[in-house]
Amino acid sequence: MIDEIKSYYQKRGLKEPTALEALMWLISEVGELVDACCQTPDAISGVGLQLDIYLSVLIDQCRVIERTVAEQSGWVRNNQPKGTYDLPGEVGDVLMMLSVFAEKAGLPEPEVCLREKMERKLRDVQR
Ligand SMILES: [Mg+2]
Repeated sequence: MIDEIKSYYQKRGLKEPTALEALMWLISEVGELVDACCQTPDAISGVGLQLDIYLSVLIDQCRVIERTVAEQSGWVRNNQPKGTYDLPGEVGDVLMMLSVFAEKAGLPEPEVCLREKMERKLRDVQR
């Protein structure tokens, strides 16, 4: 996955983030995912008023992080047209930034991290 992402970055002429910048972009993408979920009927059913408030606060906080990292020059922004939401695209954005963060932080790809954790947990269960 990370090789495909690197190729995509190269083709689009995107600036490579540091680990901290990738983490901040990841947080901003989680906010966009939550926003898209809240705006997409049936994506998350049964959300009560209290949770709506928490999610709104989370979305606002993620936007603060996004503005903070975006203030640095050299980023190519890829914003959705205002008032439109792309839930599958946001899932992809989160996976992309999670993968980039893992690579920049010197970690294995997210799928490898997950597989290793599940194997560790299953070994614990089998004891
Ligand atoms: Mg996005």
